[in-house]
Order: sequence, then C-alpha cells, then structure tokens
Amino acid sequence: MLLLDGKIASQSVKESLIIETKELIAKGKRKPHLAAVLIGNNGASETYVASKVKFCGEIGFTSTLVRFENNIAEKELLAKIEELNTDDKIDGILVQLPLPKHISEANVINSINPDKDVDGFHPVSVGRLVQGLDTFIPATPYGIMLLLEHFQLTTKGKHAVVIGRSNIVGRPMSILLSSNIPYGNCTVTICHSHTPDLKEITLQADIIIAALGRPEFVKGDMVKEGAIVIDVGITRVDDASAAKGYRIKGDVDFKEVSKVAGAASPVPGGVGLMTIAGLMKNTLAAYNRRNP
Ligand code: NAD
Repeated sequence: MLLLDGKIASQSVKESLIIETKELIAKGKRKPHLAAVLIGNNGASETYVASKVKFCGEIGFTSTLVRFENNIAEKELLAKIEELNTDDKIDGILVQLPLPKHISEANVINSINPDKDVDGFHPVSVGRLVQGLDTFIPATPYGIMLLLEHFQLTTKGKHAVVIGRSNIVGRPMSILLSSNIPYGNCTVTICHSHTPDLKEITLQADIIIAALGRPEFVKGDMVKEGAIVIDVGITRVDDASAAKGYRIKGDVDFKEVSKVAGAASPVPGGVGLMTIAGLMKNTLAAYNRRNP
C-alpha cells in the first residue's frame, strides 16, 4: 500500500513557497502577510493557529496573530476584520473556526474582503469555485488536491465517494473532484448523516474521502481492494496512557484499511499538514493578485 505521507508532500510545497518568497524579496518586494484571528482558548484552535503562524515563519511570510477573549462582541470582531480588510500590508485574513456561540459565523465570513479570503469560505469564493473560475479553494480540499498531485494519483473517470457535506470540507471537495481540472474528472457521490447503506456505496468507491468527524468510522470491510482512502478526520479521543491525556484519531481505521487500500493517508501526518500548505498557497496567490 502507498502511504500518502503529508509530511513529504507538504515539505515539497513548503520548499517551492520558500523559493517563491525569496524571489519576491530579491526583487525588493515586501513579504506576503497573513493575519490570523483567534477567539477564546479552544485547545485545538490554539494548536492549528500556532502551526499556521510557525509555517509562515518557516517560509519567510510575515504573520500577525490577533487574539480576543471568548466574550468579545460580534461588532468589535467585525470592526477588527474591517481594519484588516483595508490594511494594504495584509494579504490574507483567516478567522479560526469554530466561533463562540454568540457570534454569527456567516456574518464573520461575509465580512472578510473576498480578495483576502484565503480560507475560501466567502460566498464569492464558493461561487467562483462552483463556476470553475480562479478562486481561493478552501484550504483542506486544496490540501487534498495537492496530496493527490504530489503522489500523481489518477482520478479521471474514477468513482469518488465523499463522506460529509460540510461547507469547509465535504461539499467543496465534491465540487473539485467532479470538476474538469487536473486531479478532478471523477464521478462523485456525496454521502451524509442521512445516507442509508453507506457501506454499499463506499464499497463501489475507487476514492474515499472521509470527512465526518467520527473516529475510525471507515473500517476495512467498507473499502474496495486497491481504493485510495483520504482521511480528513481529526478528533481528540481521551487516553490516560497518552502524555497529553488524549490521542488524535482520524475517521479511518488505518490498521484495517491499510490491508485493503491501494493508497491511504495517515492521521496525524496526512491531510492536516496539507491544509496548512493549501492555506499558504492561497496567501501567496492573494499577495500576487494584489501586487501584480
Ligand atoms: P462537520 O461536523 O461540519 O460535518 C460532518 C459531516 O459528516 C456532516 O455533513 C454529516 O452529515 C456527515 N456525517 C456525520 N455522521 C455521518 C455518518 N454516520 N455517515 C455519513 N455521514 C455522516 O465536520 P467538518 O468540519 O467537515 O469536519 C469533519 C472532520 O474533519 C472533523 O473530524 C474535523 O475535525 C476534521 N477536519 C480536519 C481538517 C484538517 O485539516 N485535516 C480540516 C477541517 C476539518
């Protein structure tokens, strides 16, 4: 079985971004600049944002971390986003999700300048994705496309089954895989919590994208011999024997699935790393658009 190692693939994206950033600096231009907004102190969100800030430093981007307490008023958050929208030195803005319950996710996403929407969640970005226009692809589906590209996997004419229909993973993933683009051109089935007989469908899949947030849900007997299995899930599962008191689990039972799959991505060390790579490619694209 081919291990779709996100460490190797994201390292390759990282190296190309380092070269492109050095070229900008050599031309006397400023560095691309990502602003990350973090609200509250959710452990997973803290980890994700810290990884993004670290990656920026490693590739030569500037980053700004804006932090707010959990009880920040929506109005105050929107005012800060507006300030970032109009700051000429900021190329990309990301607001780490999930947000506290009293803040409307839609209002926040809609308030980001679409030209700086490096997470690709704004309706303008989504609309452009659906129409096959140049856009910011949401970072996780973008990272998965980069993973498929790195390992040169054939997708054309294949049956892809996407489990999960969220706006940030499942739905954009289904659009990309069905689009007439490199590493697309699949026939796509999108499954969700109301899909009966899921196993019957996954057994027909040449490619499975598991993005449902249920640890080790996809078992070996749900996978066709030789299929490509991409695990998007990240769930913290309590484990007293682990140093941190929890372990990160994917949506795929890797031990079982690796015995039947032709290729599979691990968790950790798979899609999570590629997501950051996708975000950084979007940030560079935003910079290039704004500084032609
Ligand atoms: P979500 O909760 O928004 O959506 C889950 C989807 O799964 C829903 O559409 C639901 O209908 C479907 N679903 C739930 N139970 C199901 C079942 N039994 N059968 C079929 N479908 C079912 O989740 P999300 O934000 O898309 O995230 C999914 C997982 O991916 C989570 O574990 C999340 O932490 C992880 N994630 C990872 C990354 C990354 O960078 N690797 C990025 C985003 C999300």
